[in-house]
Amino acid sequence: MSKFWSEMVKRCEPYVPGEQLDQQNILKLNTNENPYPPSPIAIEAIKEELDRKLNLYPSPTVDQLRNEAAKYYGLSKENIFAGNGSDEVLAFSFMAFFEPGRKIRFPMISYSFYPVYAKLFNIPYEEIELNRDFSLPAEAFFQSEGGVIFPNPNAPTSVYLELDAIKDIAENNPGQIVIIDEAYIDFASISAISLTKTYDNVLVVQTMSKSRSLAGLRVGFAIGNPDLIEALYRIKDSFNSYTIDRLAIAGATAAMKDIEYFNHTTQKIVQTREWAAAEMKKRGFHVLPSATNFIFACHYSKNAADLYTGLKRENVLVRYFNKSEIDNFLRITIGTDEDMKLFFEKLDSLIRKASTR
Ligand SMILES: *Cc1c(COP(=O)(O)O)cnc(C)c1O
Repeated sequence: MSKFWSEMVKRCEPYVPGEQLDQQNILKLNTNENPYPPSPIAIEAIKEELDRKLNLYPSPTVDQLRNEAAKYYGLSKENIFAGNGSDEVLAFSFMAFFEPGRKIRFPMISYSFYPVYAKLFNIPYEEIELNRDFSLPAEAFFQSEGGVIFPNPNAPTSVYLELDAIKDIAENNPGQIVIIDEAYIDFASISAISLTKTYDNVLVVQTMSKSRSLAGLRVGFAIGNPDLIEALYRIKDSFNSYTIDRLAIAGATAAMKDIEYFNHTTQKIVQTREWAAAEMKKRGFHVLPSATNFIFACHYSKNAADLYTGLKRENVLVRYFNKSEIDNFLRITIGTDEDMKLFFEKLDSLIRKASTR
C-alpha cells in the first residue's frame, strides 16, 4: 500500500492464475490449455507475418480476423468484437454493460475473474448458489437488477446448461444484458450464438485459448447484435487502439480457417475426456458430467488437498480451489492419451501409498 495508490488500485483484488512453472518435466493439467499444438496453418501464417511488417501498427478494427470469425459463425463482421484474450473481452463487457449501483448476478461457484472485474469497476454483485448437483438454477437469474454473467459450460464445474434455460434467462431479463462466457463450448454441444439473433440482450463470449490451442496468442471474441459490438469498440478505442498484435491477427485468422484441424483435435479431447472420466470413476471418484476439456472430481475417501500436494510432488499439476463448497474437488485438464496414462500411474501409486500407510 502506498499513499500514491488510487481508490481503484486499493479496491481491486487481482485474479490469481493457475501456476505456470518453467520446469520442463511437469505434466501440466492445471490451466485447461490444449495439449495439442495450434493448427500448422496458423503457425505458418505467423511465420510469414514475422517476415513482413512488424514495423507497422496492426489494424485497429481487425476486419480480417472478424470476417473470418463471422464466416465461421454464419454472421457478419458487425456481430463480432475481437480482443486480447476473452479475459479482456469480459473486462470491456463489464465496463460497457454493467453499472455501478446496479447489482449483477453470477454463480457462486464460477470463473473467479467475475468478482475481480466487479470490484475493479465498482459493480455490486450477488452470487447465486448452484443446485446440489452443481447445475445452474436458471430461475434464480430471472429479473436481475443489473445483468447476468455465467460461463456455459460452467467452470470449474464442467457442467453444461441447456439452451432452453438460457433462452428463459434472456427472456426474463429484457432490460439487462445476459453475458454467456462460452470458453469451453466447443467441447460441449450447442452454443447460445443463435440466441443473439433474436435477443438483443444476449452477448456470447468465446476464446481461441482452449479449443483452438492458442492460449499463448491471446485472442477472444464477443458475439452479439451490432449495437452491443459497437459499445465494446467504443470502450476499446478509449483504452488502446491496438489490442491485438499483427502476429495474433495472422495466426488467429488462419486458425479460424482450419476447421478440419479444429474438429479433429476437439473430438480427440472429448474422446480422451470420456475415457478419463470412466477411469476416475473406477478409482472411487465422483465425476461431474463434463462438457469441457477438464473434469471436476471428488474422491469418496481421499482428501483433495492431499491428492493435489501428492501429485505436485510427482511433477503433476492439477487445480485445487481452497473454497468451502468445492474444497474436496480437483479440476484436471484433459491432456493427450499419454498424458492421462501418466496421470493415472501417478495417481494410482499415490492412492496405494495412502492406503498402506
Ligand atoms: C480460460 C477462460 C477464459 C479466458 O480465456 P482467455 O481467452 O485465455 O482470456 C474466460 N472464461 C473462462 C470461464 C475460462 O475458463
